[in-house]
Amino acid sequence: MIDFRTIISSTTDYNFHTHTQYCDGRAPMTVMAAHAAECGMRYLGFSPHSPINFESPCNMSRADVGEYLDQVRRLKMEYAGKMEIFAGMEIDYTDEFGPSDSYFQHLPLDYRIGSIHFIPSKENLSQYIDIDGHFDRFKEKMHTYFDDDIEWVVRSFYNQSTKMVEAGGFDVVGHFDKIGHNASQFRAGIDDEPWYDKLVMDLFDAIMDHHYVVEINTKAYETYGRVFPSMKYWGMLKRYDVPVLVNSDAHEPTLINAGREATLRSFAAI
Ligand SMILES: [Zn+2]
Ligand SMILES: [Zn+2]
Repeated sequence: MIDFRTIISSTTDYNFHTHTQYCDGRAPMTVMAAHAAECGMRYLGFSPHSPINFESPCNMSRADVGEYLDQVRRLKMEYAGKMEIFAGMEIDYTDEFGPSDSYFQHLPLDYRIGSIHFIPSKENLSQYIDIDGHFDRFKEKMHTYFDDDIEWVVRSFYNQSTKMVEAGGFDVVGHFDKIGHNASQFRAGIDDEPWYDKLVMDLFDAIMDHHYVVEINTKAYETYGRVFPSMKYWGMLKRYDVPVLVNSDAHEPTLINAGREATLRSFAAI
């Protein structure tokens, strides 16, 4: 595994959450790497959405994994001495599969991010629904798959997250309170309600028990002024000396550094 603690204590010129042509990113890896180098990045990690065992337009296919890893190898050589490049993956967790599966453990990855984007439908627990997309789609799905029961959705998200954290097999916890973004548009202030906070705290305890690296994800910073996890949990990250990566979760080259500098400054000031 990458020594993230050493990297983050020496520089802020990194991004370990980057999507490209192998999943739902909107540019090839070569263009993403060129842009990162122009921004002065010293470390760049690619993190395609992992293959999963049901249909999803956002996830890479198993057939592409070999080609993806070859491309990382080529870029590692091309940028040697200028920028260090890593093969990562943002791996989904469901009750049927996840980062700890031998398939993911045997891939020659430099690091793994564990993230929840799918939760079971309320009517059919074996049907997984993407709750990570734009609010318009989330709202429709709330009606179609979840009976407009936002508390059920939030509890299910944190329940899946805790199971993922306990099952292990990954290094970095991705955007651990992200459901708060869509949930709070569905019901304003839900992410400040005590029961919601308790779910986050319980997840945080599980994260602490397993000594993960935690990311602060800045993908929504410029558009919504929001980061994941929310600033109100940053004090805990500091108090427990959690290694924190500030990642842009870029899906296009111009966003490789989006929201990172302001977030790094605010985090340093806590
Ligand atoms: Zn994600
Ligand atoms: Zn991502």
